[in-house]
Amino acid sequence: MSTSEPIDEARLGLLLGDLRLPTIKHIWPAFAERADKEGWPAARFLTALAEHEIAERARRRIERHLTEAHLPPGKTLDGFDFEAVPMLSKAQIMAMVAGDSWLEKGDNLLVFGPPGGGKSHLAAAIGLGLIENGWRVFFTRTTDLVQRLQVARRELALEQAIAKLDKYHLLILDDLAYVTKDQAETSALFELISARYERRSILITANQPFGEWNRIFPDPAMTLAAVDRLVHHATILELNVESYRRRTALERKKGPGRPPTRATIKNTSD
Ligand code: ADP
Ligand code: MG
Repeated sequence: MSTSEPIDEARLGLLLGDLRLPTIKHIWPAFAERADKEGWPAARFLTALAEHEIAERARRRIERHLTEAHLPPGKTLDGFDFEAVPMLSKAQIMAMVAGDSWLEKGDNLLVFGPPGGGKSHLAAAIGLGLIENGWRVFFTRTTDLVQRLQVARRELALEQAIAKLDKYHLLILDDLAYVTKDQAETSALFELISARYERRSILITANQPFGEWNRIFPDPAMTLAAVDRLVHHATILELNVESYRRRTALERKKGPGRPPTRATIKNTSD
C-alpha cells in the first residue's frame, strides 16, 4: 500500500475487532488526530495505543475479580481504625496486601477474636486490597460454602467443586465457628483444607480459639489434623478488643465530651 492511499477506517475497525483490541478500536481515531497534529513519531503513536489497551484490560480484569469475590461492601483498609486494635500491626497488614510473600506459597491467615472485634471487616479489606493488586479472592460465610460442598458431595462432585476453588489465590472463610457439628458437613470442610494445604491460601475468621474447635469437627483426630494443616504455614492475628459496635455506640451516647443532659435538651429543641 502506498502512503498516499486513503485508509479504509471501517475495515481497520473490523481488523482491530478480529484482533480483540477493543480499546484501540475505540480510541485510535482521537489518538491519530492528535498524533498527526503534533507530529508524533509512528512508534510513539503505536506505543500509546498499546499502553491504553493493556491498562484497560487490567482494569476490566480487576472489575471481574471484584464481582466474583462477593466481598461485603464498604469494608476497606482506609475505613479500618487500626487505633482501635492496638495489638495489630498496620505495617504487617499492608505488607500482606501485596500478597506475594504468602499467597505464592499457599500460606494461611487466621483471625481470632470476640464478636464485633473487626475480624470480618479486616478479612474483607485484605481481600479487597489483594484484588486491587491483581490476586483472585473469594469471600464466603463458612456455613454457605460448606452447604455448597455438601450438595456437591451428594452429587458425587465434591472433588470438582473443591478444584474449582483453586482459581482463587485466597479463600476467605468467614465465621468458622458457626459450622454445625455434622459428620458429613465437617468432613467436607476438612477435605477443602487438605486439598488447599501448601498450595492455596485460606483466611479463616473465628470467634473461638483452637481449644474449642473440637465442636467444629466430628472427632478429635480430625480437629487435630485440620488445625495442624492450617497452622503449619500461617500468620495468626488475635483481635482481642471489645466489640467495635458496642464501643462506638457507647461513644455516641456519651457525645463529644458534653454531658448527656445537654445533648438531650438540644435534640428536643431541634
Ligand atoms: P467481627 O467479624 O469480629 O464480629 P465485624 O468486622 O463484623 O466484627 O465488625 C463489626 C462492625 O464494626 C462492622 O460494621 C465493622 O465495619 C466495624 N468495625 C469493627 N472494627 C473496626 C475497626 N477497627 N475500624 C472500623 N470499623 C470497625
Ligand atoms: Mg464477623
